[in-house]
Amino acid sequence: MKKVRTRIPPSPTGMFHVGSLRTALFDYLFAKKTGGDFLLRIEDTDRERLVAGATENIVESLYWAHIPPDEGVMLSDKNEIVQSGDVGPYIQSERLDIYKIYSEQLLEQGDAYYCFCTKERLDDLRKMQELNKQPTGYDGQCKTLSKEVVKEKRDAGTSHVVRLNMPDEGVTTWNDMVRGEVSFENKLIDDQVLMKADGFPTYHLAVIVDDHLMNITHIFRGEEWLSSTPKHIVLYHMFGWDIPEYAHLSLLVNEKKQKLSKRHGDVSVFDFTKKGYLPEAMVNFVAFLGWNPGTDQEIFTLEELVAAFDFKNVHKSPAVFNYEKLDWYNKEWMKKLPVEELAVRVKPFFVDSGVDAGRLEDQTFFEGVVRLGRERANTLQDIVSNTQFLFADTLEYETELLKWKKSDLKSAKEKLTQISEFLSTMSDGEWSEEGVEHSVLAWIKNKDYGVGDVLWPTRVALSGQQFSPGPFEIMSVLGKEKSLARIGEGIARITT
Ligand code: GLU
Repeated sequence: MKKVRTRIPPSPTGMFHVGSLRTALFDYLFAKKTGGDFLLRIEDTDRERLVAGATENIVESLYWAHIPPDEGVMLSDKNEIVQSGDVGPYIQSERLDIYKIYSEQLLEQGDAYYCFCTKERLDDLRKMQELNKQPTGYDGQCKTLSKEVVKEKRDAGTSHVVRLNMPDEGVTTWNDMVRGEVSFENKLIDDQVLMKADGFPTYHLAVIVDDHLMNITHIFRGEEWLSSTPKHIVLYHMFGWDIPEYAHLSLLVNEKKQKLSKRHGDVSVFDFTKKGYLPEAMVNFVAFLGWNPGTDQEIFTLEELVAAFDFKNVHKSPAVFNYEKLDWYNKEWMKKLPVEELAVRVKPFFVDSGVDAGRLEDQTFFEGVVRLGRERANTLQDIVSNTQFLFADTLEYETELLKWKKSDLKSAKEKLTQISEFLSTMSDGEWSEEGVEHSVLAWIKNKDYGVGDVLWPTRVALSGQQFSPGPFEIMSVLGKEKSLARIGEGIARITT
């Protein structure tokens, strides 16, 4: 058996899409499961659609997700983009000479022909076909040009492309790993352009030449490529090459069953990294877009995914990208990570938020912040927004907020003063969430105060917020000194 080799060949035309991440993940899982290789190739032959920085974004997204390629376009130890492997280059614009050789072979074999039709003619042709309700496509006018005419036109420097001489008869069939047997009638397939007038190959020629020369055994891609596959298989036959296995993965849709698109929400991996989704959660969630393990298990590490992944459980029905489910995965993974690790992941988000960097150096304080912030957070970004009040020098809030239900500010002041006195008698050793909670509740009971009468103003004085974590959690993170200072500020606000 040949060594399994899979590839992700994105075009650098924008930010790496979550759909491409799903394909790359399936490539990765399948390669790792079978002891094979996973390659990254950059398909940049469509020069008009290139976007600066897109290649970097593709590479970084794969490394972020912990599914780096084994070969192809990679990151060096110094985080620079490099190419590595025996069958490169792995960037198509650096392989133009190679495509030329194969295009010439097809021309010689009569499997391709020169086409000199102008854009105007092709536009008119399409308009006519549309008007007559005929399928659109090239009508083959240049297919029958004599060798002499072709030579004459080429010698005269007439702009031209090279087209696939698609057979008019027969059926092209393959056994898709997801869809089973798929067939297309050859006569319905267009004479695809293989080489453009600018000397660049089209996707169709470049992809098959590269997949063949790079010894790719399995091709996984989105179902939008389904109608391209018969053209590719015909080309493989023309060259006499082994045909790889194909799996066309289902479309990603949103809950309204619309194709996932930028217009309706986040779609690039970068959108999600920026908001603070963990790679573990993203990969776990994305694995379930079209696949399931056949059991109830939902949380999977990457290693567990490698072990469990099987194309038998990949489905062809559209996969719904449920943003709430992604939040659930992220929450689960934020709980699952040790707090020290979560602190490392969330730190850059705190730095970006502009909090005093010095405070982040105090490890005990910072881990306390993270532990408290993750309770009500879906994302790393939420941890930051949930805990901004812990970093504030002074809290901004309406004094009225200190008032508990039907009680008044006078009572709030009295309770705050008393609890402050009580808390100041506690030793540093007793100052933990449980320690403070235990002592304060006993004190309240002893005084026969209402719990809300004491804890509401205390919590507001500590957080400055209507809704926040509980007072004991906050006090344990802030420490005694800071907690007393905030309660003191609360008391000072009340002038009645
Ligand atoms: N360059 C194509 C893309 O951008 C690759 C499709 C394929 O996997 O063959 O998705």
